Amino acid sequence: MTMTEAPKGLITGVEDPVLRLAAVEKSYREGDGVLPILRGAAFELYAGEVVALVAPSGAGKSTLLHIAGLLERPDSGEVVIAGKACGKMDDAQRTAVRRTAIGFVYQFHHLLPEFTAVENLVVPQMIAGLARKDATERAMQLLAYMKLEHRATHLPSELSGGERQRVAIGRAVANAPKVLLADEPTGNLDPKTSHYVFDALSALVRATGLSAIIATHNHDLAARMDRRITLEDGKVVELE
Ligand code: ADP
Repeated sequence: MTMTEAPKGLITGVEDPVLRLAAVEKSYREGDGVLPILRGAAFELYAGEVVALVAPSGAGKSTLLHIAGLLERPDSGEVVIAGKACGKMDDAQRTAVRRTAIGFVYQFHHLLPEFTAVENLVVPQMIAGLARKDATERAMQLLAYMKLEHRATHLPSELSGGERQRVAIGRAVANAPKVLLADEPTGNLDPKTSHYVFDALSALVRATGLSAIIATHNHDLAARMDRRITLEDGKVVELE
């Protein structure tokens, strides 16, 4: 790897990654045997970076994101989030880290259908202890970054697919996580809408100093991110 290709943190040499995976191994049971998915996967994500995860279906993208986001435990290896090694934590501690440091976006929006766009961003903040007024203020600011102020009082069923995904992204970052993990967030959208959603996501990342890993099959979108990685034989490999 040349210096020009090195991740930001390596160039400055002073910055710690917000997320680090080290020697992560994960297999699933398959009939009588085991199916190895991650085999010594290592990866570092630095503050402010947006990284594309591009790999064929079944390569282990979701598995990697779930392990990075503490939804699943690796068989061995370590996950370090904002300087905290999470491997030896119990489930309650992992949930606490996940709630404060990680935001998830999936291919399907998973919004609460009976709540408006702004309420979908307010609810998680109130669960985290914020007063309604402060939560609403932040929700409206996030919707503005996503160019959705005019849709704030609409129900998910009254929004387009791209608008719903933008609300879902806003909801994922409502509690100011450090890392956004997105599993094919534009997988259900047409190319033009995908670009629009990605632009909104980029604006949000730049405005909030967030870092993101975005699994995508869309090579045009991947080309616009800061770095591209793939999974080969269960290891993380940097792409051109
Ligand atoms: P991708 O997101 O790249 O499509 P996944 O991480 O979803 O890949 O899955 C990788 C492989 O692991 C697939 O072959 C999948 O069938 C298998 N797999 C994923 N989750 C489980 C599970 N809970 N139990 C058994 N096999 C699984």
